[in-house]
Amino acid sequence: MKEIEIEEGQIKIIIPTFEKVSARAPVFYNPVMELNRDISVLALQQFRKERDADIKVCDAFGGSGIRGIRYSQEVDGVSEVLVNDISSLALEFAEKNRQLNGVDNMELSHDDANLVMRNNRGKFDVIDIDPFGTPSYFIESAANSLKADSMLCVTATDTSALCGTYKEPCIRKYNSLPLKTEYCHENGIRILISFVARTFAKYKKMVDVKLSHSSEHYMRIYFKIDKGAAKTDKSLENLGFIIHCRKCLFRDSVPGIAPSLLEECPLCGEKLLRGGPMWLGKIQDHSFINSMLEMISEKSLNQEKKVIKLLNLCMEEYDAPPGFYDLHVITKKLKISSPPLMDVLNDLKREGYSAYRTHYRPTGIKTDAPLSKIEKIVLSL
Ligand code: SAM
Repeated sequence: MKEIEIEEGQIKIIIPTFEKVSARAPVFYNPVMELNRDISVLALQQFRKERDADIKVCDAFGGSGIRGIRYSQEVDGVSEVLVNDISSLALEFAEKNRQLNGVDNMELSHDDANLVMRNNRGKFDVIDIDPFGTPSYFIESAANSLKADSMLCVTATDTSALCGTYKEPCIRKYNSLPLKTEYCHENGIRILISFVARTFAKYKKMVDVKLSHSSEHYMRIYFKIDKGAAKTDKSLENLGFIIHCRKCLFRDSVPGIAPSLLEECPLCGEKLLRGGPMWLGKIQDHSFINSMLEMISEKSLNQEKKVIKLLNLCMEEYDAPPGFYDLHVITKKLKISSPPLMDVLNDLKREGYSAYRTHYRPTGIKTDAPLSKIEKIVLSL
């Protein structure tokens, strides 16, 4: 079997050569996910800093071992990493890569991820779930396994289900109705958070989202886990629905697990779309992300510029209401050409509204201003 060597962060790995990135490759490696791994290194470092104690990490879908090895070598204060994979060939390479990098705090495990999490209940401070496609089959075991003051990192690549290209897969996998709008990637993240929060709630565990992003073909969310029935019940108040009018762009968030929802748009009478349950609460943590940004210079990240750009945009979103407007969708409705985005944002701010860009779309506007105000400003520019 021919092999190639890859350098990433402060480590290198060898993997069998592959023609194209695919779940069918002998050992999975996706260079596009380097950004995801760079950000993960920073998130784990920040979690470790806040916790102020060494951490044990479970890389439940280890593949070549690249992620687990990077955690072991690039995050200070990791006492142990368990790299698990169901593929024996992946583990052979993970072991070669462990030796190549002289890692002495890494164990290997050849099991189904669900069993690894359940068999090690209460052991790990961080569990990383990075499967092919949906993470939904594995969240229950993470909820069973993780203790208070721990961290869960979740990747989902089934973005078409979460964004609502077809609604049935989202209902099947996440027990939520998706909402296909210009802000469908944010809806998808909120649906995934809602699914994780409801699954953890069964165990009287609550989630606090530290960072979430939708990049390339995947979504990634970092949760801090806490325990307690009362706190969990309170946190579930963040669940709710979004209603949306495709004709006039009216939208609203409606909290509650079974709220009564308007059928018709209050502005134009069109039949409203609806999506949920989804997480209407905070999905970015300003101080967590800011501290991640502050520690970038201490790390050696190949994707540093992209990481900085993405984290700054995510940080800007921290106190914005759910959803966003798209300047091009608004100007298409108004049948005019688009003014510069920054002019619209500045005018909204001058009028006392919050107005931010979003990492989801370069033409996105996150604001608490009503649509009528945004349209008035867009028309005046
Ligand atoms: N985390 C890796 C990285 O950053 O390069 C990539 C992981 S890849 C997307 C998914 C891996 O999960 C594959 O190596 C596959 O063999 C493994 N896998 C698939 N189903 C699994 C299961 N039920 N339990 C454990 N591993 C599984």
